[in-house]
Amino acid sequence: METAELLKSNNVKPTVVRMKVYNYLVENKNHPTADTVFKSLLSEIPTLSKTSVYNTMELLLEKHLIQAITIEEKETRFDADTSDHGHFKCTKCGAIHDFHADLRNLQSDLPYGFTVDERHLYYKGLCAKCK
Ligand SMILES: [Zn+2]
Ligand SMILES: [Zn+2]
Repeated sequence: METAELLKSNNVKPTVVRMKVYNYLVENKNHPTADTVFKSLLSEIPTLSKTSVYNTMELLLEKHLIQAITIEEKETRFDADTSDHGHFKCTKCGAIHDFHADLRNLQSDLPYGFTVDERHLYYKGLCAKCK
């Protein structure tokens, strides 16, 4: 689906900034921070402000079009892949890698009556390159 259509079907007005930010996340699967997205798009959109990037992230999160990765307390990173998967952060090079994980089965021990809105699985360690 085209980005404009995708945003519209989720009740998001497809502005240039929103489309560029969303496309950036789809094309860059390295889980960038909002700051990285801002710096990368600045050459394309010279009028871009940090606030508009942050607001766009908030909106896309609210519509479940992207997910936030809060593996580090001080650094939120973003992912356009909203399917269930785990994130592995290499403590040496700082890269965050996706890995397959059946997150739905982690729900099984929840007390009766609880419902889940989000699932996150975070691992930290060394990637094969750094090990
Ligand atoms: Zn590494
Ligand atoms: Zn991911």
